[in-house]
Amino acid sequence: MQLDLDTGAQAFRQQARSWLTDNIPQAQPPRDGAAARDHATAWLARCHAAGWSGMAWPEAYGGQGLAPDRLLIWYEEYTRARAPSTLDCTFVGLNHAGPTLIACGTDAQKAFHLPRILKGESIWCQGFSEPGAGSDLASLRTTGRVEGDEIVVNGQKIWSSYADVADHQELLIRTEPGSKRHKGLSWVICDMTLPGITVRPIRNMAGASHFAEVFYDEVRIPLSNAVGGLHDGWTTAMTTLGFERKTAALALQLELSVKVEELIALAAAAPGTAMAERLADLRAEAAALRAMTYRAVLRSTGTLFDGSLVRLTFAELSQRIHATAMDILGPEALLDGPWAHDYLEAYSETIAGGTAEVQRNIIGERILGLPREPRP
Ligand SMILES: Cc1cc2nc3c(=O)[nH]c(=O)nc-3n(C[C@H](O)[C@H](O)[C@H](O)COP(=O)(O)OP(=O)(O)OC[C@H]3O[C@@H](n4cnc5c(N)ncnc54)[C@H](O)[C@@H]3O)c2cc1C
Repeated sequence: MQLDLDTGAQAFRQQARSWLTDNIPQAQPPRDGAAARDHATAWLARCHAAGWSGMAWPEAYGGQGLAPDRLLIWYEEYTRARAPSTLDCTFVGLNHAGPTLIACGTDAQKAFHLPRILKGESIWCQGFSEPGAGSDLASLRTTGRVEGDEIVVNGQKIWSSYADVADHQELLIRTEPGSKRHKGLSWVICDMTLPGITVRPIRNMAGASHFAEVFYDEVRIPLSNAVGGLHDGWTTAMTTLGFERKTAALALQLELSVKVEELIALAAAAPGTAMAERLADLRAEAAALRAMTYRAVLRSTGTLFDGSLVRLTFAELSQRIHATAMDILGPEALLDGPWAHDYLEAYSETIAGGTAEVQRNIIGERILGLPREPRP
């Protein structure tokens, strides 16, 4: 599919290309912590000041109000230029917290949070998973007791990406006493500086501390921070997961095509690696993922479940591409460098945002209409 059929789109692509050429930071981003936050927020602020953030967000809240094809063109140029990875601490705010607020938030919530997210002034994290509630999210046990105009939160979340540097969290809690499963939950905006919150970073096998455990001890959150209605948080959470699986990784998905071309160049420079067939397959699969990405962004129809198809295709293809890089580069590549880092990080892609097994269940049951698997 051709994105830039009209002269307006072609001019937009040229503008994006030339701005990126002049502005991409040369320094390697720090891996995690406050230094990584400063780097990511400075880059986002620079993009925003030049009109390159919130491409498809409403103008009323600081966005550019452009058509979705412009968003795709921007990220095609962005990944082609090898601009900083979008998988940094600005990811949650830009890619699923902000879109959830646009879809389900009150005017006051949108007016306060959206411009701050776009300017890099407010970093968000997600507090859905718990030690006993990951794939089975509806079994979560963190509670919110309604007291006057506040919700008092107690419990624990885990794997909360960027919680150590976040200002706000998408927090999913049980607010209706005695409620079960999907009923009685609330999706609330949690200010991460509130008294009673403790954040404990977890280091992953790639050596980075991107995610953390978060503990809540009598944390008082205003009732007005509930998004999508008190006790109706499951609907809001499904909206968030829809964005997380369907469009959040848009740039990372497009980037896989760029990475395959880099691998082809690497293999050409390493005679003796008989990889032609494997690389040809990867190039075709990356093109298919690019087509799925266009479809997800350009079509406003479709369901939450379509996100599982996109997420699963991306996650498994990413792992195959990074494993191929290791085979081309040989064992020394594991010691250091961007391919080693990305190879190790790619292992998490079939877990984050819902595991590959869970996505397959959703595709089987909700898209293909196969019988439901037995529930415990
Ligand atoms: C890099 C990364 C970032 C993350 N960031 C966040 C974040 O910011 N916020 C957040 O809330 N969470 C986050 N998570 C957590 C993620 O959502 C969970 O890890 C995921 O949903 C799986 O839950 P679990 O780890 O509890 O595994 P479990 O649910 O315990 O699953 C264990 C195994 O059992 C399998 N399994 C479970 N149920 C079924 C089933 N019904 N059918 C078949 N197989 C099944 C799973 O596929 C898996 O292999 C992140 C995870 C990673 C890896």
